[in-house]
Amino acid sequence: MFKVNIIGTGSTGNAVVIDDKLLIDCGLTFDKLGDAVMGIEHIFITHRHGDHIKVPTLSKIYKDRPWVLREGLHCNSDVAEFIKLKNNSRFKFEVPVKNIFTEHGFHFDIELGGKKYHIETFKLYHDVPNQGFVITNEDGETLLFATDTNSMISAPHRKYDYLVVEGNYDEDKVVEASLSDDELTASRAQRNLRHLSVQSFENFVRAHSKENSVIYQLHESDTFGVSSEFGVNNN
Ligand SMILES: [Zn+2]
Ligand SMILES: [Zn+2]
Repeated sequence: MFKVNIIGTGSTGNAVVIDDKLLIDCGLTFDKLGDAVMGIEHIFITHRHGDHIKVPTLSKIYKDRPWVLREGLHCNSDVAEFIKLKNNSRFKFEVPVKNIFTEHGFHFDIELGGKKYHIETFKLYHDVPNQGFVITNEDGETLLFATDTNSMISAPHRKYDYLVVEGNYDEDKVVEASLSDDELTASRAQRNLRHLSVQSFENFVRAHSKENSVIYQLHESDTFGVSSEFGVNNN
């Protein structure tokens, strides 16, 4: 069993906690993370957008428990570069080289609460470097995590026990809005094309789930979104 705690998802800030110990994305203020932050042992950052990484929040975690970042922060080289740029007198931290994903299909093991987990990364398609994760626990159960991508083409073709995947916009709504005479509406709709449509989310889930898979829909757009019936655990 995986425990999936979605503290925040979407453009207002992303943070998902797996099994109380792994934080995926840190796009909320320290206060908004709340108690969930207490037991965190590892942190994965997907990409450099402000709704996925808040450096002041990382800085607060670092002040409290520096080893969480020193041992447990994992990200791609673009995010590592971004963190370095944001360093200041109160926060001097560089992501350890061994924790930087140098290529897609990067494999590594972590321990959460004394239990082993195997992690694989795979390429996502956004306007900055980004990757998804396949997490396998000691019981061989698998969880796939992916957000902020317009394609799932590089995700490993397997059936997953847990799917935590973006379903951002309804294709009909975005097509209609992008044809609008109102330029702002049209350009807003265009921006959603960097994300995964709800239709693509559903196609992916259909092809990669088992009968009892647990499915979460992430990063639904306020303007162009629709809640999929597949996201049975939508909160
Ligand atoms: Zn985002
Ligand atoms: Zn993004």
